[in-house]
Amino acid sequence: MLVVMQSHAADSEIARVVEVIKGQGLTPHVMPGATRTAIGITGNTGAVNKALFEVLPGVEEAIRVTKPYKLASREMKRDDTSIAFPQGTVGPRTFTVVAGPCSVENEAMVLRTAEFLVSIGVKFLRAGAFKPRTSPYAFQGMGTEGLRILAKARERTGIAIVTELMDTEYASEVEEASDVIQIGTRNMQNFSLLKRVGQCRKPVLLKRGMSATLDDWLMAAEYVMAGGNYQVVLCERGVRTFSDHSRNTLDLGVIPPAKALTHLPIFVDPSHGTGKRAYVPSMSLASLAAGADGILVEAHPEPDKAMSDGAQSLDFPGLKALVERLRDLAPAFGRTLA
Ligand code: PEP
Ligand code: MN
Repeated sequence: MLVVMQSHAADSEIARVVEVIKGQGLTPHVMPGATRTAIGITGNTGAVNKALFEVLPGVEEAIRVTKPYKLASREMKRDDTSIAFPQGTVGPRTFTVVAGPCSVENEAMVLRTAEFLVSIGVKFLRAGAFKPRTSPYAFQGMGTEGLRILAKARERTGIAIVTELMDTEYASEVEEASDVIQIGTRNMQNFSLLKRVGQCRKPVLLKRGMSATLDDWLMAAEYVMAGGNYQVVLCERGVRTFSDHSRNTLDLGVIPPAKALTHLPIFVDPSHGTGKRAYVPSMSLASLAAGADGILVEAHPEPDKAMSDGAQSLDFPGLKALVERLRDLAPAFGRTLA
C-alpha cells in the first residue's frame, strides 16, 4: 500500500499517517518527492484497509501496490532514484564509472590505482578485501588488512570505496571502510546478509545472482529496502547460459525491463559478464546505450600478474581510453560522466 499525501500536507499530517501505520503493527517508509510525500507500507501479509488512511487529513489517496517488491517498484516511486556522494551523484542524467582491481593485493597497488583513477576523473574505486572464490585453495583476499588499505586510499585521495561484504560477521568493518557495500552474485539470495545490510546506512551495490530472474533480483533489493536502507544500486554481471564463448552471458536485455519496473539505479559489470578484457570496452559502451547508470569495471596496474581475474582486467591505458570514449559518448544518451 502507498499513501500519497496532498502537495500541501503538513508535517504533522504526515506524522499522523506514520502513527496510524505503526498502530496497525506495520512499517511506514516516508518517501519525500519533488511535489508531494508518499508513505509506503510494508509488513502486511494480507490486504490493508485503504479506508483507514483515506479519512486522515492531508491524505490524497491510498493505492494498492500490485508488485511483490513494494519499495523497489515504480508503482511506489515514479521518479528515478539518485544517490548523492561527496564525489558525485549516481542516477539519472549521469553515468558513473567504478573501477579497480578484483582484489586488494597490497597497499602499493591500491594506492597507485586510486591515484591513477583520480587522475582520469574516476571517483569510485572498487576492490575486494574479501573474495568469494570457487576454489578454497585460491587467494581469498586480504580480509580486514585489505579494508585498512582501502580506508587509507580513501583518506589519501578522497576516492569513494566500493568493496564486498561476504558475511554478516564483518558487516560493521566493511560498512566503516566503504562508501558502497557490494553484495556478490553468490550472495544475492543470502537473506540474512541482505537483512543485515538493510540495517547499514551506506548504499548497497547488489549484483544479480547468476541464475536470478529479474523478479528474484528485485525481491533481493526489497530485502535491503525493507530494513530501511533505500540506497540500492542493482548491478547486472552476466548470467549462466550454455554459451562457451564468454565467462557469463551479459544480459543487457534486462536493463529496459528493469528500468520499467524499478526506480533504482542499474549498473553493468562487463568484466565478469565477459571474462575477457578485449570485450569489456564494447560491452561498456553498449551498457551506456542500453540505459545503464554506470559500469563496474576491473582494472589493474599489471593485469597479467593479478591475483584474481587478470584476464578480464583492463590495464591503465585501456581504462583511460574507455573512460574518454564514455565521456565523449555519454551526452548523446542524455548523460554526463559523473
Ligand atoms: C567481483 O566483483 O570481483 C565478484 C566476485 O563479482 P561477482 O559476485 O559478480 O562474481
Ligand atoms: Mn573479480
